[in-house]
Amino acid sequence: MKARIAYIEGDGIGRDITPATLRVVNAAVARAYRGERAIEWEALLAGEGAFARTGTHLPDDTVERIRELGVALKGPLTTPVGGGFRSVNVILRERLDLYASVRPVRHLRGVPSPMRQPERVDLILFRENVEDVHTGIEFPAGSPEAERLIAVLREMRQTVFPGSAIGIKPMSKLRSQRLVRRALRHAIECGRRVVTLVHKGNIQKQTEGAFRAWGYELAREEFAGRVVSEEELGAGPLGDRVLLNDRIADGMFQQLLLRPDDYQVLATPNLIGDYLSDAVAAQVGGVGMAPGANLGDAVAVFEAAHGTAPKHAGRDEANPSSLILSAAMMLEHLGWPEAAHAMTEALEQTIRQRRVTYDLARQLGDVRPLRTSEFAAAIIASL
Ligand code: NAD
Repeated sequence: MKARIAYIEGDGIGRDITPATLRVVNAAVARAYRGERAIEWEALLAGEGAFARTGTHLPDDTVERIRELGVALKGPLTTPVGGGFRSVNVILRERLDLYASVRPVRHLRGVPSPMRQPERVDLILFRENVEDVHTGIEFPAGSPEAERLIAVLREMRQTVFPGSAIGIKPMSKLRSQRLVRRALRHAIECGRRVVTLVHKGNIQKQTEGAFRAWGYELAREEFAGRVVSEEELGAGPLGDRVLLNDRIADGMFQQLLLRPDDYQVLATPNLIGDYLSDAVAAQVGGVGMAPGANLGDAVAVFEAAHGTAPKHAGRDEANPSSLILSAAMMLEHLGWPEAAHAMTEALEQTIRQRRVTYDLARQLGDVRPLRTSEFAAAIIASL
């Protein structure tokens, strides 16, 4: 059996971690299926490499080919801060309607962590991926567009400080509910017992507050008997139902540090999920260890949780674990769980042997860091 899968090498450390990841995946698949299954990788252009060759950071051919193949593995891509082109990552999510960012976060034994009991973190975060402030509808301070919007707001009796920059935060019922639906389905299918809506609805009542209300409404309308809110449950037994509750975002950062085992599945709007997913990843070893997937209904793009780490680019020293674990999610998605498990176990075993890249070595202390390529070879040897 052969699977044809697209990949984007990525900018910065992409050129180090992506080839290393492909080697590990190929070896895990060959090992798990004794050569009877294989992946045919198809390289696609995006980011700085694409710009140099085609004059655009995201060629249409790349988007269309991912749509055709349905599955892709993606390295990190650069986005300039405070100006320049829009995030290629965000545009890719919008164009392929990859509406759910999915990040499982659990501790792998041997990975250094700032927590005393990192094994208490074991959750999966579903983040809305295509709306909220990430839509990038913003107008600079003093621009005619910002002034016009300020004038319109004044007509609505809303005061905005003169000369302000303006950003827009659109959030819809349809897109909020399809994200929450995915989180609830996951909980039911995977035996998780609690789903928590995380929002800032006490302040942003009509956007984040609506996200919360739409979540509960969806649970009542589509999951009656299988999902129950705290209010409906009262003092009664949960039985085999899933509990749906909600938390205000600022309190949630504290909750995840103090009571991480109270949480199993989180569903969040885009910006909050963006912050929360890196914060909770840090609790189990940092973004260098956190896998991720961007899922639509027909297309899935698996990608590292971190960025391009430019300081380490091209030096064969970055940690490929995040992309390798994302590739394990991809293998599960393909229905090849044996290869996914073999690869994750080999990765864990390698780290337990204190054979790690610089980022983990400096936390462990007294460990000689391996190069990216050496670390990949060590995982392959552990398979
Ligand atoms: P970053 O994730 O690149 O780096 C944050 C810190 O983590 C740095 O200290 C870096 O050295 C370290 N780090 C990250 N990945 C690592 C790895 N695999 N191994 C070892 N150390 C690692 O975030 P940043 O510096 O905020 O962003 C740099 C660029 O990446 C920006 O252009 C940003 O827009 C982009 N970015 C892209 C994505 C994506 O492609 N999905 C995600 C986040 C950031």
